Amino acid sequence: MEFIPALKQLLNTPKRAVIIPHKNPDADALGSALALTHFLRKKGHTVTIISPNDYPEFLCWLPGQTEIIKFSEQQQECQEHLQEAEVIFTLDFNDLSRIEEMEASVSDTEATFVMIDHHEEPKDYAALMYSDTKMSSTCEMVFNVLNALDNSAIDSDMAVCLYTGIMTDTGSFRFPTTSASTHKVIASLMEKGAKNSQIHEKIYDTFSFSRIQLLGKVLSNIRKVDGLPAVFMTLDQNDLDQFDFKKGDTEGFVNYGLSIEGIQLAVIMIQNKSEGKIKMSFRSKGRFSVNEFARTFFEGGGHHNAAGGKSLVSLEATVAKLLEAVKSWSHAFEDSY
Ligand code: 5GP
Ligand code: MN
Repeated sequence: MEFIPALKQLLNTPKRAVIIPHKNPDADALGSALALTHFLRKKGHTVTIISPNDYPEFLCWLPGQTEIIKFSEQQQECQEHLQEAEVIFTLDFNDLSRIEEMEASVSDTEATFVMIDHHEEPKDYAALMYSDTKMSSTCEMVFNVLNALDNSAIDSDMAVCLYTGIMTDTGSFRFPTTSASTHKVIASLMEKGAKNSQIHEKIYDTFSFSRIQLLGKVLSNIRKVDGLPAVFMTLDQNDLDQFDFKKGDTEGFVNYGLSIEGIQLAVIMIQNKSEGKIKMSFRSKGRFSVNEFARTFFEGGGHHNAAGGKSLVSLEATVAKLLEAVKSWSHAFEDSY
């Protein structure tokens, strides 16, 4: 059956639902989870959002976020909700490995799974699946779902949550996945009460002083890959400690690499000593698929032009591996951009 009729049927009696964003949730994951929660509650369902772990301070104003429970902090309570759930929505991811430590508890339930997501290469775990890699964001998809179910029930809290996720996932409406439909959705959300300028300031103009200095540090160390239109940046644990690193502080840094004329690939590598890994982010322009690149070399994935991954060796060894990998993939770049 088509997604919307199947979802309508599933929700035609009050359900106990759990909504799950991916680990280290961003504004798209949290915004979509919160908007869907507000909507389903209005329709008489019982809803809990369980985030695998914590999220950055700059998202701690989203309407309803204080009710989110975190698996990393309240495992017992989360497990009870999961066991009682009749429906589990997984938002902004398409592979249960993206919720890491939570995966086992989530797989081990009787619930009906509903996936709403825009990443590449979805796994086959959900009975109801709305997966579309051409979509700008999961928030745009959730808008489409709520709009199809009952447009009149969309209120300003939902609009604010959805606007925020669309804004961040589209790089403020500039990435190629931003369509005319995206702008129409944005127009509806503004009519429903989302205040664009206020939301932009809450997300982008809330840097701490040390976060700006950390940005300065990483930009001063940006390096080119010899002979290829690619740049990379690194931050080690000392840099993070020196500038009082807080979760989310490095969000968006990698994009600066692509603002250099002619650059088609930008990579950031950030050491996380406590987890014993290097977190990697990849951004590209044009033909170069960072989804494939991250999957092939760095146990990651994501979208065609934005992906993440990890490395379990040292920062130096990760840089060496990256350089090798990029050189072996020189065919993936466009001749000129
Ligand atoms: P970021 O670099 O901002 O962490 O992630 C960029 C995009 O890739 C986001 O849409 C994110 O959800 C996705 N992503 C990040 N890390 C991973 C990963 O390890 N695996 C997969 N499949 N996607 C990832
Ligand atoms: Mn997203």
